[in-house]
Amino acid sequence: MTVYNFAAGPAMLPLPVMRQIQKEFLDWRGLGISVIEISHRSKEFIALLAETDELFRQVSGVPENFAILYCHGGAQMQFSMVPMNLIGLRPARKALYVETGNFAQRARQEAEKFGEIEVVASGEAGNFARLPDLRSLTLDKTASYIHLTSNNTLYGTQWTSYPDTQGIPLVVDATSDILSRPMDWNQIGVLYAGAQKNLGPAGIAMAIVRKDLLGHAGPHCPRLMDYQTYAQNQSMANTPNTFAMYAINLVLKWQLQEGGLKVMQQRSLEKARLLYETLDQSSFYQGTADPQHRSLMNVTFVLPNEALLELFLSEALANGLVALKGHRAVGGVRASIYNPMPLAGVRVLADFMQQFEKTRG
Ligand code: PLP
Repeated sequence: MTVYNFAAGPAMLPLPVMRQIQKEFLDWRGLGISVIEISHRSKEFIALLAETDELFRQVSGVPENFAILYCHGGAQMQFSMVPMNLIGLRPARKALYVETGNFAQRARQEAEKFGEIEVVASGEAGNFARLPDLRSLTLDKTASYIHLTSNNTLYGTQWTSYPDTQGIPLVVDATSDILSRPMDWNQIGVLYAGAQKNLGPAGIAMAIVRKDLLGHAGPHCPRLMDYQTYAQNQSMANTPNTFAMYAINLVLKWQLQEGGLKVMQQRSLEKARLLYETLDQSSFYQGTADPQHRSLMNVTFVLPNEALLELFLSEALANGLVALKGHRAVGGVRASIYNPMPLAGVRVLADFMQQFEKTRG
């Protein structure tokens, strides 16, 4: 039986990537040792990282005026690094936050330690099932940056585009939808993502920082929390997470081979449509996100009661459909269908859902 892993993160990686890791784990590039055993200062590893930067630029289309940084910690470390590096951009030491879920709230809470924070829009009143309307916002021009979460992993909502921030640098937490669709880098000040969904293993974050935003951390900013340290040292100011960097390299190669962001977007649309159609045709399952704001990465829904939910999850598991339990904040089911999830896996899930409804509904 083929097992399909719908985990929200750490999530499945592309099968060809996992196979390659397995194949060359003991003998990387003919060196007779593993990639996790070689020095990050070796010429082979330095070349790997330079190649990874190049691959990232090719896949994402990010221009040269952005630095590509591989930072310690996951995405939540960025919740601290963003204000530490950017809040001092303007004398008011103020930042704006859009709250669309619990990660967005945690990012805001962390930023409050460093300056004045204004929540300019929030979806909390509707339990984050909808995204707030950003069209008629008046933004305080003294703010150093505005922070937004691109895809809300727990609640299954996603922005289809980013707002015009009226010249204020836009900081995007793209942890759960990075490299899933083409994007316009002109809108971005900083885009960051924990790797564990669309990029590679957990514990590392990529931060793509517009170069004019480097070098603004205050004197008390710890060295390894300063974007400039990463930029000036090719992300190797100390020993980095070499295994994750290597895996990201392979994931980016896989992305290119598969056809890049347009193909990823097309596949995501197809996969998500299959599941949302299944929900919309059913009176048994109920989607939790507002249909206008549905995510292409995390599909969330509930069943009529807890007993049926438990049964659904255990029968799904018996059918090779793994890690479908929703986050405790939302309950129900969450199917995470990032880039590596094949359409075949989503088909099996949709068929299973229909069958379960027939027999148990
Ligand atoms: N932001 C978003 C949108 C996430 O989905 C997650 C984790 O899943 C995080 C931040 C936190 O990531 P980490 O556990 O790497 O700190």
